[in-house]
Amino acid sequence: DWSPRDFEMGAHLGRGKFGRVYLARERHSHYLVAMKVMFKEELRKGCVQRQVLREIEIQSRLKHPHILRLLTWFHDESRIYLALEIASEGELFKHLRGAPNHRFDEPRSAKYTYQVANALNYCHLNNVIHRDLKPENILLTSTDDLKLADFGWSAHTPNNKRRTLCGTLDYLPPEMVDGNSYDDSVDQWCLGILCYEFVVGCPPFESNSTESTYSKIRRMEISYPSHLSKGCKELIGGLLRKESKGRITLVDVMTHYWVKAGMAERE
Ligand code: ADP
Ligand code: MG
Ligand code: MG
Repeated sequence: DWSPRDFEMGAHLGRGKFGRVYLARERHSHYLVAMKVMFKEELRKGCVQRQVLREIEIQSRLKHPHILRLLTWFHDESRIYLALEIASEGELFKHLRGAPNHRFDEPRSAKYTYQVANALNYCHLNNVIHRDLKPENILLTSTDDLKLADFGWSAHTPNNKRRTLCGTLDYLPPEMVDGNSYDDSVDQWCLGILCYEFVVGCPPFESNSTESTYSKIRRMEISYPSHLSKGCKELIGGLLRKESKGRITLVDVMTHYWVKAGMAERE
């Protein structure tokens, strides 16, 4: 069993709403991890203690090349520590903002779309919905591969459909905007938003107010810049379907001709 004393804390890698993440080194093996530290008091005040336990339970079960591994976890009087696999290139968000015109070219976007679809498909096969997909929660490794991270909003798929409202506004599917029940096809919607953000540079329903983002989502007000290829628009359109049953499957995303062509071009 591990304790905080076994690790030497180093550089700050990032932070989210509750987590502060540091580079850390196990004192004996010198093994490097990304240590996510959360204060129990803050979790209690934010009423997210159960959510964190679910994050731990879910993420420690998932073992996939495109899902960030939770190696171990422990706690002391005031903090919870999650020892995570390192993704040295950090948030995909940072790379998107740093790219020319804040967007990725189509082959790069296709490669990333494939990897996220692959990870989400694995989650769904294991009855897990991520529900918080966005470029801040996707990390990049030194080999330019993606790791799906931050399972803080994830949930086990129950038999009855879920109604909890969570995730980020720009990525909210229509069924959640309207407070209706939903299932794992919410992740397909979010993948459509993500793919759009890769190739365009901003999410499709971005707006300066909550109300206007909501109404754009309800009215499915999507515009495609003229530089997008036909295949790319087709894939995004197949994922951003108001009717959740009509969204193309993750396996169909992985084998979509635009995805395959883009990946072949990156080889
Ligand atoms: P929160 O649940 O509070 O949003 P996250 O798990 O998203 O916390 O982590 C916060 C930030 O820390 C991430 O957005 C990222 O910038 C950084 N980070 C998290 N895990 C890692 C990791 N394994 N390697 C590198 N950076 C990480
Ligand atoms: Mg986060
Ligand atoms: Mg989180």
